Amino acid sequence: VTAWFAEHALLPDGPARDVRFDVADGRFTAVTPDAAADRSGATELPGVVLAGFANCHSHAFHRALRGRTHAGGGGSFWTWRTQMYALAQRLDPETYLALARAVYAEMALAGVSAVGEFHYLHHGPGGTPYADPNAMGEALREAAAQAGIRLTLLDTCYLAGGLQASGHVPVDEVQRRFADPDADAWAARVGALREDANTRVGAAVHSVRAVPRAALATVRAAAADRPLHVHLSEQPAENDAAVAYYGCTPTALLQAEEMLGPATTAVHATHLDGADVAALGGTRTIVCMCPSTEADLADGIGPARALADAGSPLSLGSDQHATIDLLGEARALELHERLASGERGRFTAARLTEALTAHAGLGWPDAGALAVGNRADLVAVRLDTARTAGADPAQVVFAAGAADVDTVVVDGRTVVHGGQHILGDVGALLGRALAELSR
Ligand SMILES: [Zn+2]
Repeated sequence: VTAWFAEHALLPDGPARDVRFDVADGRFTAVTPDAAADRSGATELPGVVLAGFANCHSHAFHRALRGRTHAGGGGSFWTWRTQMYALAQRLDPETYLALARAVYAEMALAGVSAVGEFHYLHHGPGGTPYADPNAMGEALREAAAQAGIRLTLLDTCYLAGGLQASGHVPVDEVQRRFADPDADAWAARVGALREDANTRVGAAVHSVRAVPRAALATVRAAAADRPLHVHLSEQPAENDAAVAYYGCTPTALLQAEEMLGPATTAVHATHLDGADVAALGGTRTIVCMCPSTEADLADGIGPARALADAGSPLSLGSDQHATIDLLGEARALELHERLASGERGRFTAARLTEALTAHAGLGWPDAGALAVGNRADLVAVRLDTARTAGADPAQVVFAAGAADVDTVVVDGRTVVHGGQHILGDVGALLGRALAELSR
């Protein structure tokens, strides 16, 4: 049995003082508030302790574009995508392992205990499968294990190069690396992926742009009751194409194909009409907001509060990793609502913390709460830094960022201590991995 002690912690029923956490076999065996007299044998944690953060939407390799896409007026979502495609062409399983290990270590530094990797960079150049057709997915599995965070590998069905009013267009040269010959081939490849103690396997539909309607039922069947994720209505052009070709919105199409429900996560959900919001909420579909990406790519502000009111649980993702700061994503969820609505207090600090720690959409329902029986994930956020000094522990999400995370424990194992990752200098790891890609 191992134990930790924190002066402040955010427990499921609210902020608590002097909390002792006893852990065995990676799970909480006791969570005891007001235990100031019982610190014996417990490791002291600074600041306020939260449950582990869930980064529910990641494309690890997009990290290589950070700070490199803003020249010449900045372009658009679509010019950003061209830069991302050029990068995708340079990755192989070895360089992707090095990059993803460093990116996942950066996530751990930010308090992340589990990542949902929306994985579509499957095959070799020209679409030629690797000897192991899941070599890239296996690189991600190894990367997460070495970085000390759990992985939900959301293997992504990608069949078409885009959607126009006349229908889907074939994949281009770069997209061949993303695509399987058809949905059955995708399902067979995903069926060969095995889960382990640190890895869940889920499924994803890249978008209604990349997966024709006829293939959706195959994805749904292959996903069974595992997590199913889909990019939804990030850009108005996707809605326009769907309406022109299908005569309905992307959300309505997914609903008609029975893709929505509590095991499904809709990512972005930025440009929705009232019926879309009702469909997502009514089916309890999880909505993953990615506020830093949605701002960076000028996507727009999605109707987060309306979706929550309609019944959708909310989660968060750093997506293209313009920043990896999940506390910042949670804060931006509320700040974007304020900008769009002209009102404060759209989400309470407790609701934001709930989104920050929402692991259910990643298939880890026993994570995300500091409660007996749950996975022992702990994030200690300092309350004595230049950013956080004086903040009410219950409102720490409105003050703190990734740099204020001191200690991260995942499944009872300390991954970050004193702001240092077990792998050492994460900046150097990132630098080496990125330099390898630009050679
Ligand atoms: Zn994405």
